[in-house]
Amino acid sequence: MDRCDVVIVGGGPAGSSCAWALRNSNLDVVVIDKNKFPRDKVCAGWITPMLIDVLELDIEAYRQQHTFQPIVGFRVGLLGNPMLDIRYGHGVSYGIRRCEFDDYLLHRSEARLRLGEPIQKLTRSQTGWVINDSLQTPMIVGAGGHFCPVARYLGADVGRTERAVNAQECEFEIGPSEQADYPIEAGIPELYFCADLKGYGWCLRKGVFINIGLGREDNQGLARHVDSFLDYLAQTGRIPTDIKPRFKGHAYLLYQHAHRELVGDGVMLIGDAAGLACTQSGEGIRPAIESGLLAAATILQADCRYSHANLEAYINRLTTRFGARDARDWLELMPSSINSRLAVKLLSQHWFVKHQVLDRWFLRTHEPPLKYGSV
Ligand SMILES: Cc1cc2nc3c(=O)[nH]c(=O)nc-3n(C[C@H](O)[C@H](O)[C@H](O)COP(=O)(O)OP(=O)(O)OC[C@H]3O[C@@H](n4cnc5c(N)ncnc54)[C@H](O)[C@@H]3O)c2cc1C
Repeated sequence: MDRCDVVIVGGGPAGSSCAWALRNSNLDVVVIDKNKFPRDKVCAGWITPMLIDVLELDIEAYRQQHTFQPIVGFRVGLLGNPMLDIRYGHGVSYGIRRCEFDDYLLHRSEARLRLGEPIQKLTRSQTGWVINDSLQTPMIVGAGGHFCPVARYLGADVGRTERAVNAQECEFEIGPSEQADYPIEAGIPELYFCADLKGYGWCLRKGVFINIGLGREDNQGLARHVDSFLDYLAQTGRIPTDIKPRFKGHAYLLYQHAHRELVGDGVMLIGDAAGLACTQSGEGIRPAIESGLLAAATILQADCRYSHANLEAYINRLTTRFGARDARDWLELMPSSINSRLAVKLLSQHWFVKHQVLDRWFLRTHEPPLKYGSV
């Protein structure tokens, strides 16, 4: 039987950031993932600058070997309506490829890696947990994404009654001869909001890669919405009429609509396993990373005494960082019929789109960066 101090289930941004923050702690940390890395992850691959500082990422070194597309503006509108063109003139976000970004973060974490190993069995022992009958630990961190087995163990009703965002995307490379067929500008993502405001579609060009997708917070007819979005893009000349991209789907929970138990004796959930994506934008990578860091701070503070009571500090840290779970946005408080009519008006107003939709909801420029050292 292998033994270690902390097991992190899932090597995505949440798990790798937690492991990275524990790297100098003398704790023996093991990250287990069902996939071998590099692996792909269904995602648009858009990240906000706050996570770069908190992870101490050396952008110059990263961009030499990986796709790293500065985002300098957006085209935004309601699907089927004229789009607003908003330019910042400098990088306000970045486009990355998850197959590269996640692999980079995981391998610099210095944790012991057990990759290509799904969690098949999770049992309680007198001193903690036994995983797959082969690894024993007093502390387990569930970072396995929306369908995380540790979240299920804590009672999450995964895929049943939960109100999840269901989203699909495809990412493909375009060759030099195809450039003219795709007038989507590099570094200017296009955001197409659905008329009922239950989601949005996007086109994001990162270097020679194009990512197209659509996500909605309902589980009815996503494929139909994706098909009509693609038709619309073809009709409006954003993509060629004859392409048939292969879409892949995944789900995640928005912070204010998630109700998972996050802590137990010797266990915490982070990232999508905890349901932390930003309620307005669906941004999940930064909350995943920040929750990984906050969980690491809690582990260090608990000093090997991982009772539920000692780990509760993690919940307080999350609430301080992301606010109360039941806080409601003014848009959510209005009936959906009024919302839709209002949306048509608001999403055609340059001021509203720039300052409310982009700056506040998508870029969160009003939030201070997480000061990891002081949590
Ligand atoms: C279509 C789509 C587009 C998105 N676009 C964006 C975007 O542009 N920007 C953004 O910020 N967020 C985006 N998100 C959300 C973002 O992808 C997630 O919030 C983020 O990946 C969460 O990171 P994580 O580390 O918690 O989980 P994940 O990245 O899902 O990592 C979980 C890991 O756990 C492993 N795992 C799962 N089950 C097991 C098991 N049984 N045993 C062992 N290992 C297991 C998986 O292999 C995986 O490596 C998007 C989501 C979707 C679906």
